[in-house]
Amino acid sequence: MIKTQIPEIKALLSTPRHIVIVPHKNPDGDAMGSTLGLYHYLKLYNHTATVIAPNDYPEFLKWLPGDDAVMIFENQTEESRTLIDNADLIFTLDFNSLSRVGAMSEALENSEATKIMIDHHQQPDDYAAYTYSDVSMSSTCEMVYNFIEMLDDANKINATIATCLYVGIMTDTGSFRFPSTTSRTHEVVGCLIEKGANNAQIHNNVFDTNSYSRLQLLGRAMQNLKVLPEFNTAYITLSQAELDEFNFKKGDTEGFVNYGLSLKGIVFAAIFIENHQDEIIKISLRSKGSFSVNQFSRAHFNGGGHDNAAGGRSDLSLQETIDKFISILPQYKDELSQALKAH
Ligand code: 5GP
Ligand code: MN
Repeated sequence: MIKTQIPEIKALLSTPRHIVIVPHKNPDGDAMGSTLGLYHYLKLYNHTATVIAPNDYPEFLKWLPGDDAVMIFENQTEESRTLIDNADLIFTLDFNSLSRVGAMSEALENSEATKIMIDHHQQPDDYAAYTYSDVSMSSTCEMVYNFIEMLDDANKINATIATCLYVGIMTDTGSFRFPSTTSRTHEVVGCLIEKGANNAQIHNNVFDTNSYSRLQLLGRAMQNLKVLPEFNTAYITLSQAELDEFNFKKGDTEGFVNYGLSLKGIVFAAIFIENHQDEIIKISLRSKGSFSVNQFSRAHFNGGGHDNAAGGRSDLSLQETIDKFISILPQYKDELSQALKAH
């Protein structure tokens, strides 16, 4: 989005509108934080705003202010469709392609509402009337902060909005440690704390609310960790039977993939999670330095994301998916060892 478009957006928002705000499927901290942060901002102007998530999200995000008003398309399909059909404006946040909202994409495609995308993923599609895309950003939450600032409303950010935006910056930066964390990110976070985001409490709510069974599942995941030193790669598998054994709940495997990257000499980590219901293997990929998991996922596993964090999926069995993964790695041997050297 270029600054010259801001007056047009201001004009659009100058009278109360029917607005729908959409995060990607399997929403994470940044997706829920950015949509709810924007929701609370728009409510200040008496817009009729609704966050509609394609499907449910993890328990560790259910304390977010405004959570009780979030609609889930998968469970409340008809009501959601009506809201989408009647919307004047639709904000799509934290995703770059309508395919990222699953079964909800058709309703969004058919809607005549003016669409505004705010997102930091690579290679954004061109479906929105207004696209604010910046892959250098730590998080969509940081971009929503910028968006509100561009609308000359930074002074309107209250503790509720600040809390939501803090969550997404914190989760997408791995608690302010990934290279996407800039001095500007810290500046924004500083402002959010000043406006009332309780950083210690937020961290506690997101990261220190584990169930015993989730930690046991983490234990199993660590036992399943395999290292391929010749490719500077580590990967984890979790079968559906293992998930069932540890009473898996949505979000329980969040962050597991990062443990692979904490090994010395490892720059590429993957986790393969069997999902019987969707009949897929869900894949999460993480890297350090110059090795792009976005490109790797796009080329081999039907996904994408960022240079250092991406997702994908496979229709093969768990074992076949691992075999495929291992068979691809030799093509990337040099790139992987380069990434280690340069890092
Ligand atoms: P995760 O591994 O946590 O599911 O996702 C890592 C990052 O990649 C997130 O920013 C997520 O939005 C993005 N991502 C996950 N799956 C996909 C996918 O299938 N396609 C694209 N384009 N991005 C994905
Ligand atoms: Mn994000």
